[in-house]
Amino acid sequence: MTDILIVGGGPAGLTAAIYGLRANKSVTVIEKDAFGGQITHSPKVENIPGFEEITGIEFAERLVDQALAQGAEMEAAEVTGIRANEDGTFTAITEEGEIDGRAVILATGARHRLLGLPDEEAFVGQGLSFCAVCDGAYYRDRDVAVIGGGNSAMQEALLLADLCHKVTVVQNLAFLTGEEKLAAQLRSRPNVEILYSTLAAKYLGSPTDGITGLVVRSESGEERTIPADGVFVAVGLEPQNAPFADWIALDARGYADSDEGCTTVTPGIFVAGDCRSKRIRQVTTAAADGAVAALAACDWIDTNKK
Ligand SMILES: Cc1cc2nc3c(=O)[nH]c(=O)nc-3n(C[C@H](O)[C@H](O)[C@H](O)COP(=O)(O)OP(=O)(O)OC[C@H]3O[C@@H](n4cnc5c(N)ncnc54)[C@H](O)[C@@H]3O)c2cc1C
Repeated sequence: MTDILIVGGGPAGLTAAIYGLRANKSVTVIEKDAFGGQITHSPKVENIPGFEEITGIEFAERLVDQALAQGAEMEAAEVTGIRANEDGTFTAITEEGEIDGRAVILATGARHRLLGLPDEEAFVGQGLSFCAVCDGAYYRDRDVAVIGGGNSAMQEALLLADLCHKVTVVQNLAFLTGEEKLAAQLRSRPNVEILYSTLAAKYLGSPTDGITGLVVRSESGEERTIPADGVFVAVGLEPQNAPFADWIALDARGYADSDEGCTTVTPGIFVAGDCRSKRIRQVTTAAADGAVAALAACDWIDTNKK
């Protein structure tokens, strides 16, 4: 039996592992995809304290190595559910088998919704981004497109308008759906063009050399190519909390409700990182949650020792 079961091996889960291990607890991290999480998609990260510049993959590798060096057990499997046992412990259920633990930290992150266009997954980090704060500077004085018309898309577009030569906003509806104040700001920018009732149809370029343009389709079916060295997709995030909905309270958008202590409605189950209801989703905030959740899990184990 491991002390702390961590579901998700991104920055939140791996930081939780490091903190748990340093508090002398045994830790098992279960990851269904790539250890390191979403940041592995970023070719260049420049806002992690202590690293002027690092690739997402190198950062992830360092985090994994650090957790392993402290003694973390790593399991590659998808957790499909959690069971609470009569003795107060928990079991993570995976197709490969079951793993028991005294406390659980859910650090399952969130996935950016994609549009379903050809080669889309392969373009992520190769011209296709979800984060203007993270990647906008790479497109200084260049042309970009933003897909979406809600608050997030408008905020991304405004930030990019400060840096880029031209920003084309591609919105499927005949109007912007976010706050009017943001919409007015966007409309007033001379280097922003908003295409209404228009769908993104195809990324031009290649996943190895990056995006060179975007084909869009109007309501009448007419296609045209817009110049874009980068495309920022802002059509929503999808937290990966569904398998755990019986144990944690979810907000209207599916994020885990919790306070700054990373606790949930189930004593012994904690949440950390992008899967949690909060405003800023970044590596630093995920790591902060990981530390808080791990120390809360250690306290919980120590006070509920059987
Ligand atoms: C392209 C891109 C660029 C970015 N650039 C930056 C940047 O420059 N700076 C910055 O600070 N942030 C950046 N971010 C955001 C940053 O990556 C996230 O905020 C951070 O990774 C969140 O960490 P996390 O551990 O909470 O979640 P994640 O990184 O999403 O990790 C969660 C992990 O849990 C796993 N998982 C989910 N469900 C299960 C399950 N049921 N069983 C097992 N495993 C499961 C997932 O596979 C995933 O690996 C970027 C994100 C992207 C996509």
